[in-house]
Amino acid sequence: MSNSSLKLQCTKCDKKYKLINKLNCECGGILEIVGYDYKRVEYNQKPVKVWDYKDLLPVNETKNIITLAEGLTPLIRAKNLGSKIGLKNLYIKDETRNPTGSFKDRPTSIAISKALELGIKTVILASSGNAATSAAAYAAKGNLECILCIPEDTPVEKVTQARIYGAQINKIQGNYSNSYKKALEYAIKNEWFNVTSTYLNPYSVEGDKVIAYELFNELEAVPDYILVPIGAGPLLHGVFKGFEELRALGLVESLPKMVGVQSEGCCPIVESYEKNQKEVYSWSKTINTLASGINDPLVGYEKDGTFTLDTIYQSNGYAIKSDDKSTMKGLYSLAQNEGIFAEPAGAIGVAGVQQLLKKKRINPEDIVVILVTGHGLKNMKVFK
Ligand SMILES: *Cc1c(COP(=O)(O)O)cnc(C)c1O
Ligand SMILES: [Zn+2]
Repeated sequence: MSNSSLKLQCTKCDKKYKLINKLNCECGGILEIVGYDYKRVEYNQKPVKVWDYKDLLPVNETKNIITLAEGLTPLIRAKNLGSKIGLKNLYIKDETRNPTGSFKDRPTSIAISKALELGIKTVILASSGNAATSAAAYAAKGNLECILCIPEDTPVEKVTQARIYGAQINKIQGNYSNSYKKALEYAIKNEWFNVTSTYLNPYSVEGDKVIAYELFNELEAVPDYILVPIGAGPLLHGVFKGFEELRALGLVESLPKMVGVQSEGCCPIVESYEKNQKEVYSWSKTINTLASGINDPLVGYEKDGTFTLDTIYQSNGYAIKSDDKSTMKGLYSLAQNEGIFAEPAGAIGVAGVQQLLKKKRINPEDIVVILVTGHGLKNMKVFK
């Protein structure tokens, strides 16, 4: 089967494009891949690699696939942590086990493969660290040049990791949104492929869908709640899209409630959610959090936040925030009860789930999955 019927479609004006090096629509809207033939896809419930789902991913030729054996991460029944906090069916999806130590390897594998398919030689991206290290590794494997725009205060471990994989590193003054702007400028000027992991690149988000397939394969059920650390939120959106596809394939009937978790020190999406607003606005206050992996003020691409918030509303989920103290408590609790060491952004779902329990927004019997997104060794300065 081939994916030749796939198109990019604008989520705002519905305009369609071929699968080309196109970022947002001419109207400014976010582009999404449409046109998978769900009637003809044969779903494999026992994959041995992520790319066994090729028919559900936007790459045509097998020869273009660049993989480092990402994904198929363990789903761990968190009995110790669960009984401690009062949840009978708590699971951790341990994304720290990916090749470069974060879930970003999933979207990156798609983006770099697509770059090859489009005949592009250079990729560029803005990143708070994990997407940068991931792109650097996959670009190395795909023989592509990789140019990074990262905030000056990116954790040294992530910068070093990216440098060793051979990427060209540009440190940009100010917060993540400044790096985003720079990468966009360079990409347009030089016709490089922009693999920034917001909704800017419509291909990479598709990689996050496979988490939904993996959860379904193992649980043979739809979780009641999935907690996801969110920057702009493509991970959350991608996982939800994966469940929508499972429904289109006739494999599940219900959908999970998606819970986006942000840091109190930078939480533009949560702020709009708490006010019951539809639109998300950029974060204008100072950014002050240890969870650097999700510190995204969304300046200039506020619509990405709105798109994520819309997904949360559609799923009947929640957007919640955690202060650093609770985040770090959750991080230690995850390490000391389950043997999983995550960076603050990666562990923030643990604090999130405790908050939901306390507020009685979830029940002790609910099936709850926490996505733990990045490894603890990537940001050691936070442990004093
Ligand atoms: C990038 C990242 C996230 C957030 O993902 P988005 O899809 O950008 O919202 C969460 N956790 C970690 C560790 C990350 O690196
Ligand atoms: Zn449009």
